[in-house]
Amino acid sequence: MAFKFKGVDFIGFDALLSEEERMARDTARRFVEDNVVPIIEECNREGRFPRELIKPMGELGFFGANLHGYGCAGMSNVEYGLVTQEFERGDSGLRSFVSVQSSLVMYPIYTFGTDAQKDQWLPAMATGEKLGCFGLTEPDFGSNPGGMRTRARRDGDDYILNGEKMWITSGSIADVAVIWAKVADENDRIRGFLVETDRPGFRAFDVHGKWSLRASVTSGLSMSDLRIPASNLLPGTGGLKSPLMCLNQARYGIGWGAIGAAMSCYDTALQYSLLRKQFRDSPIASHQLVQEKLVWMISEITKAQLLSLQVGRLKDSGKVAPEHISMAKRNNVAMAVECARLARDILGGAGITDDYPVMRHMMNLESVKTYEGTHDIHTLIIGQSITGIPAY
Ligand SMILES: Cc1cc2nc3c(=O)[nH]c(=O)nc-3n(C[C@H](O)[C@H](O)[C@H](O)COP(=O)(O)OP(=O)(O)OC[C@H]3O[C@@H](n4cnc5c(N)ncnc54)[C@H](O)[C@@H]3O)c2cc1C
Repeated sequence: MAFKFKGVDFIGFDALLSEEERMARDTARRFVEDNVVPIIEECNREGRFPRELIKPMGELGFFGANLHGYGCAGMSNVEYGLVTQEFERGDSGLRSFVSVQSSLVMYPIYTFGTDAQKDQWLPAMATGEKLGCFGLTEPDFGSNPGGMRTRARRDGDDYILNGEKMWITSGSIADVAVIWAKVADENDRIRGFLVETDRPGFRAFDVHGKWSLRASVTSGLSMSDLRIPASNLLPGTGGLKSPLMCLNQARYGIGWGAIGAAMSCYDTALQYSLLRKQFRDSPIASHQLVQEKLVWMISEITKAQLLSLQVGRLKDSGKVAPEHISMAKRNNVAMAVECARLARDILGGAGITDDYPVMRHMMNLESVKTYEGTHDIHTLIIGQSITGIPAY
């Protein structure tokens, strides 16, 4: 018996948005209400990624939405952020899928690729006809991807790839993987490669037993003497800064997305607390302790909205720095985790069931806190930017 979402806007935040920005958000909001909310608890229970949503999401321009040309919607970064907010209000797993397709696969092809690579992949990825994944993390290297062991070796007109990747979103459903590897012939410089997933030597296996992001596919990838033509190298890539540029795109969207998950938890808790009665036939919302929790949530959501909007405005004017994005990702995800816990508390026993979206968000957000740079790694990024001292 989930409630119909009523929107969260305490200080007239909507007035800070342009008509186009509100329209992009409202389109995504309607899509999520009509298509995601009715099926997501079942998907989560079954551990099933809702593939049936890919085509309609493509038709509405949600893939590569802030890229221009190649059939992409050409949204501003603020519009794109508001869209990811709405997707994550539905489910972090669905937002993860959109982030990977858009920011971690289409963005590097768009930014580092040749015209032929862009023509081949971007229009088909914008519609969702082709899917992608991003292979950076390895079993032994997560927070420190520079330690990666995956190697590419030049062999005539080809490269040969060997290595393992781990925790790869959409790994087993992708048509193409952006694989980051050290190139033996270039002094172990990190480069990005486009790997078609039907090539011999490529294998993807799903991670099972997840308590988080159950409606998203998470895989390990193995590459064993995998041969790709040299034309599959993304020529603009070079060094760790290339994958980090992609992660910055995705982290920006995650900062917004976390607000969506928090909004869902807050709105559920508010509506529940107004209906649920315990003492003196009064709603639990009439108690000061419950109000304090709701007030904490709405205050932190409001601050997060303003932070993400300013970071989005900086991004749209070409002035955003990685540490700005780190602050939005770090603050907003931690805020959303706490909102989920407080909302679960307000729902009492009902909060632990999937009659309400709260516990699903809480479990999802544990992954969101860890991936794309853990909470603590973002602390160190911000710490370095203000002190000048790297503390990794
Ligand atoms: C569901 C899911 C989906 C994912 N999708 C992708 C994907 O699509 N592509 C991809 O490449 N990766 C993906 N990842 C991987 C993700 O980015 C990594 O899990 C993350 O970078 C952390 O790496 P790790 O899990 O190896 O943890 P570790 O790096 O081992 O960290 C463990 C703990 O140590 C802490 N720590 C590490 N170093 C320091 C330090 N210097 N100072 C203080 N604390 C430190 C961390 O903050 C953390 O708390 C995904 C992960 C998950 C869970």
